[in-house]
Amino acid sequence: MFGSPTRSVLLCQRITMAEIDPQPHLETVAVHAGRGIDPATGAVAEPIHLSTTFQRPVDGHDPSGFDYARSDNPNRRALEKALATFEGGAAAAAFASGLAAATAIFQALGPNDHVIAPVEAYHGVIRLLRTLFVPWGLRVDFVDMPDPEAIKQAVNSRTRLIWAETPSNPTVKLTDLAAVAEIAHQAGALLVCDNTWSPGIQRPFALDADVVMYSTTKYFGGHSDVVGGALIARQDDEFFQRLREIQTIGGAVPAPFDCWLVHRGMQTLPCRMRAHCEHALRVAEFLAAHPRVTRVHYPGLASHPQHALAARQMSAFGGMLSFELRGDRAAAMALPNRTRIFTRATSLGGVESLIEHRQSIEGPDTRTPETLLRLSIGLEHPADLIADLGQALAV
Ligand SMILES: *Cc1c(COP(=O)(O)O)cnc(C)c1O
Repeated sequence: MFGSPTRSVLLCQRITMAEIDPQPHLETVAVHAGRGIDPATGAVAEPIHLSTTFQRPVDGHDPSGFDYARSDNPNRRALEKALATFEGGAAAAAFASGLAAATAIFQALGPNDHVIAPVEAYHGVIRLLRTLFVPWGLRVDFVDMPDPEAIKQAVNSRTRLIWAETPSNPTVKLTDLAAVAEIAHQAGALLVCDNTWSPGIQRPFALDADVVMYSTTKYFGGHSDVVGGALIARQDDEFFQRLREIQTIGGAVPAPFDCWLVHRGMQTLPCRMRAHCEHALRVAEFLAAHPRVTRVHYPGLASHPQHALAARQMSAFGGMLSFELRGDRAAAMALPNRTRIFTRATSLGGVESLIEHRQSIEGPDTRTPETLLRLSIGLEHPADLIADLGQALAV
């Protein structure tokens, strides 16, 4: 009953994407990619396979099947197929966290290879480079990535990879991905884009990026209940095969249940993103007009210095924003104690709205302004979110 035909059918899509005419929209892809009716039971929802080991065929090894869960397992394979289809890439590898995925990228390089990374990025990626990979021998230059001239000046003969994150964390600055891809490719380097903030609304492969990285902990999972990461490659080439090797030999793999949760979250991702973006724009407009707020960082506002680039590069402006408050650090630290709907917590991309004093979590080398608060806008009604911020700001 559980021979190889079952295993291959399990991973077939109920409808192959090619059968949907002319080209399925992202909402449709998100619901169906990497899924199939379970041939053993007829289950519509994907079963979870916890087994760590799989029966070997009588004659030894079945290269298309499974043998040991670290190497591959049904839930991870289904998720990876779905991720690759969703992003329009050739192949994907799922990891135990976003930072495990980032680690695999840098491990695929060698000592003395040169990487260009942004001065402003998710602080965990910067810390990863500084505390693990610089001592290991990677040469890293941190540049002002929104400025293409700064990138060009940092390129040298050893440059292998440019790491971009756009919009940036936490002051929501944009990097022109197509321009950076051109610089990277002229230098014979790869462009990797951390697209964690913008799944579905920013398509890095269409802008010539080579690898897309996600912390699936955020919008893919979408419910603040699973940690995960992913790498999706435009081509299933030597570099991707090296990433695959690091995934399976290094072993920073996600559990089957975690894969299942991320895959399940993906089904509602495009619809959730639409609401996150719509709500965030309304909150940003409210804050921009508030007398206690000195600056709002949101690319959907016409006042954002890179609004035109955002409109060109993104189909919507995201669910993340930050703002700076009149007053001092203490005032900014106090505000999250007064919100009732926004929870005082780090992370992002869940159904519930979060507020965070970013500087105090980033540690001593932070560049974040002391009065900056970062918001992850959830799926609550935007009028309620605005009322909550309004009462918290009224003091
Ligand atoms: C959260 C996050 C990461 C790290 O992901 P983990 O899943 O926490 O390891 C990387 N980049 C960005 C932009 C993030 O928000």
